[in-house]
Amino acid sequence: MMDVPLNGWLLFDHAETHFSDVEVVTANADGTVHRCTYGDVTRRSRQLMRVLDALGLANDATVATLAWNSYRHLEAYFGVPLSGRVLHTLNLRLSSDELGYIISHAGDAAILVDSDLLPLLQEVHALGGLETVKHVIVFGDELPDVELPGLASYEQLLAEQPATYPRTEIDEQAPFGICYTSGTTGRSKGVQYTHRSTVLHALTISTGAGFSIGPSDCVLPVVPMFHANAWGVPHAATMLGAKQVLFAGSLDVGRLVDLMIDEDVTVSTGVPTIWLEVADEFARRGVVPPSLRHVVSGGAQPPRSLIEKFRSFGVPLLQAWGMTETGPLASVAWPKHHMRSYDEDRLVSEAACQAGLPLPCVDVTVRADDGQSDLAWDGQAMGPLLVRGPWVIDSYLHGDGGDRFDDGWFATGDVAVGSPNGYFRIADRTKDLIKSGGEWISSVDMEAALMGMSEVLEAAVVAIPDAKWQERPLACVVVREGASVTLDQIHERLSAAGFARWQLPQEFERLEVIPRTSVGKFDKKLLRAQFTSEGSAQ
Ligand code: ADP
Repeated sequence: MMDVPLNGWLLFDHAETHFSDVEVVTANADGTVHRCTYGDVTRRSRQLMRVLDALGLANDATVATLAWNSYRHLEAYFGVPLSGRVLHTLNLRLSSDELGYIISHAGDAAILVDSDLLPLLQEVHALGGLETVKHVIVFGDELPDVELPGLASYEQLLAEQPATYPRTEIDEQAPFGICYTSGTTGRSKGVQYTHRSTVLHALTISTGAGFSIGPSDCVLPVVPMFHANAWGVPHAATMLGAKQVLFAGSLDVGRLVDLMIDEDVTVSTGVPTIWLEVADEFARRGVVPPSLRHVVSGGAQPPRSLIEKFRSFGVPLLQAWGMTETGPLASVAWPKHHMRSYDEDRLVSEAACQAGLPLPCVDVTVRADDGQSDLAWDGQAMGPLLVRGPWVIDSYLHGDGGDRFDDGWFATGDVAVGSPNGYFRIADRTKDLIKSGGEWISSVDMEAALMGMSEVLEAAVVAIPDAKWQERPLACVVVREGASVTLDQIHERLSAAGFARWQLPQEFERLEVIPRTSVGKFDKKLLRAQFTSEGSAQ
């Protein structure tokens, strides 16, 4: 067979040759919509490759983006790596201090930035975080009057360059891009994807075992392009010639649902907190976007009630599991063919409520606490989840976090339970598990049970220190407008869900909203800090 290097040109050329007539739609924060095609995106990406050469950036320089989802960001997704350079997508919700650390750690030489994010970049600059950066290129025609190194306008630079760029021979093991973990449980670490891992990931997530997308689809990744490459959707959709709808700006759920309807979206991807809001919006309108085939929920455990709600809409919500370190997609909870004969309750329990079936080429194992033997997939035994595969990291950038690579496996930091039918579920993150009286309590299971209560909009459960039991669960609950909930009701519900008496929280906190992390997950680190200091003060 031919020894064709698996590099990003394979994705890009395919889109340019066969799908130059397919639309890429950007919904801007100001309500306007920008329409272009893959023909435009690929042409402008080639111009961008020329720009990067003309600026004199080293052939292997790291070029960052600080940007919302948009066609320009998509141009950078290909223009930077196909010029041989490395694309580093910066999380715009991080603090200026954290951003400065990441930019310096990655050694970013240039940054492509949306104009509304310039104030954030100026803060980073003021803290000395742009020392490695020679060029700040503002997405747009205008050049704002700000003090930043090598300031230039993206459109002006592009206009000076021809749309020709020779297809270069890039080694498939060369770096393609860098994403930092969002730091939910500690300081962010750099994850470097290769061309090969990006191509293999794009191919696999397109299949019926992944997101199940193709040229007949219109995909709307609600996941930001700065968060684990929007789970690889922009790469896959471009390669496949699927229409893409990119939502630039903070989430506005009404607009999101309008876009799903107006643009005929067939598949959409996002974290559970998004789908909680979308489900409410569908219910409020009494309308479900007619072409929507399925939505994918990843990044955290979706509550069973949410999965059931989407099923009642006729749109399956597919649970996916993965991490920045695993491509990110590593499993999706598609039901198997013979499960069609299962009743609804069994189907939801055995497939939809699981983190999924590993994707082809991805291997997962659940280890015993001794770290040596693998646990049986018996639906009971719970232990650390390890993973390996062609799009799983074997080291962090600059050798950080070395203790997580063991004997060819990556220790995910999640705790899982494997079932005899081949699915696995995430019981918790190691750092979120609650250790009470020497036994473990799963915060994820407790949250799922609480969010199954009709009175409860959101719930997060964290460990608080306890002199006698070591730790106790604290339930933080957002009650729906007009509803109320008591500790007795919470206990009743949790007991019905199978929690033992000793596992029940002694108290609960009623919150207006559960704080979110930079990628929209419940911020348990913050809650823990908040209630731990209050707890110790008491
Ligand atoms: P961060 O680690 O900073 O939160 P990631 O987006 O890489 O950023 O998060 C990966 C983590 O998200 C996983 O380790 C896991 O704890 C959690 N996660 C992802 N998908 C699921 C899922 N389906 N169920 C439960 N937890 C999930």
